[in-house]
Amino acid sequence: MDKINVRGLWFENLTLSETLSALLDRLESGRQTVLFTPNAEIVQACVDDPALYPVVGSADMLIPDGIGVVKAAKILGTPLKEKVPGVVVGEKLAEALAARPAYRLFLLGGKPGVALTAAEKLTEKYPGLQIAGTHDGYFKKEGEENEAVLESIRQSKADVLYVCLGAPAQEKWIYANREFLPDVKILAGLGGSVDIYAGTAKRAPKIFITLGLEWFYRLLREPKRIGRMMNLPKFYFGTWIYKLSGRKEQ
Ligand code: UDP
Repeated sequence: MDKINVRGLWFENLTLSETLSALLDRLESGRQTVLFTPNAEIVQACVDDPALYPVVGSADMLIPDGIGVVKAAKILGTPLKEKVPGVVVGEKLAEALAARPAYRLFLLGGKPGVALTAAEKLTEKYPGLQIAGTHDGYFKKEGEENEAVLESIRQSKADVLYVCLGAPAQEKWIYANREFLPDVKILAGLGGSVDIYAGTAKRAPKIFITLGLEWFYRLLREPKRIGRMMNLPKFYFGTWIYKLSGRKEQ
């Protein structure tokens, strides 16, 4: 199956490399593509606040960033090929753009200075990568300040835009603003990826990733996430109840 429904959201059933090829095809075709990378927390946020479904569901491509979504698809009897982490898609796409210097990347989000450091680190790693511009993520998401950010993205002639404002803020921002950025071909909501590229945050060691425990590593490093993370068991057990009751979301 091309797309798999997990609790009311349609996910691409693609491997990492298939995801990358699909993005490059879309980039070359010039049609605007929005990519969101929901994890279980975000799917649960949609279940709890259904007004989020049209926002998150507006993406042209949803990829399952997290073991929770992959497990849920399996519980529902429609397994997804694999977990496709947004941070890795963002890095691979940057690498692919470095080999296609006609395309320019803009990094939006993170604390002041982080996007710029991320841009420097990415260009060091992938020479040839064309950075159109950067902007931090601490601006008013409406009115004049927002207009100024939109204008700087338009002026930069960016083809690809990484939006790293945290979820669901970045999904809401892209949903509200994509039409004002008609020349941006790919808009990707990539959470805290900008911090990883800049080196201000680290991904979990491989062993945690392999065991499907990246969420646990994050909890150890950022205990204040405990409230948000209660969404994980809620999502897991909720998916079982959902399956057993035959209920339909969306
Ligand atoms: N962030 C931002 N603007 C804001 C709030 C957050 O740019 O108004 C950034 C924050 O600095 C971080 C990123 O959003 O770089 C994502 O944060 P988090 O790790 O919480 O990501 P999530 O797990 O929500 O995807």
